[in-house]
Amino acid sequence: MRSIDELVRKNIRDLKPYTSAREQYMDYTLTLMDANENPWGAIGTIDNHQVLNRYPDPYQRTLKQKLAEVKNVSEEQIFLGNGSDELIDLLIRIFCEPGKDMIATTNPTYGMYRVSAAINDVAVKEVNLDASYQLSASTLLDAISPETKIIFLCSPNNPTGNLLDPTEITRVLENFDGIVVIDEAYIEFSGSEGFVQECRRYPKLVVMQTFSKAWGLAGIRLGVGYTSERLIHYLNRVKPPYNVNQLTQKQALGAMEAVHEINMLVAKVKNARDFLSREISQLEFVEKVYPSDANFILVKMLEAKAVFNVLIENQIVVRDRSNVTLCEGCLRITIGTEEENTRLVDVLKRFKS
Ligand SMILES: *Cc1c(COP(=O)(O)O)cnc(C)c1O
Repeated sequence: MRSIDELVRKNIRDLKPYTSAREQYMDYTLTLMDANENPWGAIGTIDNHQVLNRYPDPYQRTLKQKLAEVKNVSEEQIFLGNGSDELIDLLIRIFCEPGKDMIATTNPTYGMYRVSAAINDVAVKEVNLDASYQLSASTLLDAISPETKIIFLCSPNNPTGNLLDPTEITRVLENFDGIVVIDEAYIEFSGSEGFVQECRRYPKLVVMQTFSKAWGLAGIRLGVGYTSERLIHYLNRVKPPYNVNQLTQKQALGAMEAVHEINMLVAKVKNARDFLSREISQLEFVEKVYPSDANFILVKMLEAKAVFNVLIENQIVVRDRSNVTLCEGCLRITIGTEEENTRLVDVLKRFKS
């Protein structure tokens, strides 16, 4: 088995990282004349209680302490990024030699793994999910080569909405000689515990979560990676020093004071998901509403493009996934408020081909 150190690209292993000013001295009560900041204060500040003229904590320590409590992990197991998208890119850059190494993922799945790999000149091996959008560990493992450094799995999967079978995921964890990333952006809507607690057992596992979905904070750009200390050591070396800004750190801390509200929100989404699924499955042009563990549903229908256009004419935007392999004829619909869902259903009921 290859260790994390062996899997990392040589230039990253040898990297002498940048040391930022606030990495060495973070105490704002000191006389800070080290980072060329503006000592008088911020211009046009909205909230006077925030220190915005100083660079933020490069390791977001207060935020990690709080998140560690909420998630029952240690602070040393947490990495924070400018959205999950930053984490995806960092992982590919740390482990994959451009023009040589590969990643593997499923098809269909979230498009960013492929795009991030392409930007880094890293090839992607895509393995189809089965007809019920489930993962077969043996099919995936058969498709990988020694150049495959990372496997990206998305559970619940986007755009199909279903959790991947945890037994199959564990089979991948037990048998793949590389990094396994499980993207749990929608885990709160699934009722599943997810794999965060497995990070202690599998040091080469990275579980990604995000503040963009259940937390309702897509605008602050905050993604979370749960993994081993060794892997976080490399992530910290490669990330831009101040990748999570002060406003984001403060807002996320505030959100965690209200963590109990998540349960209520998830209950609302599940109710609305049931309503939408029921209503939409009764429409005559709809072939199938796929079961969902997320805050969206995938709907297979006749004339998906025509339906999409009619919705647009009525100022309703859904995601056209009809050109995606195994999602032919499908639209992906995010669960809206009661009012939005009712409006969508009304428009759909009036649709005539
Ligand atoms: C929405 C989503 C994310 C979130 O990305 P952020 O950059 O954190 O906003 C991650 N993965 C998947 C599969 C998603 O659908």
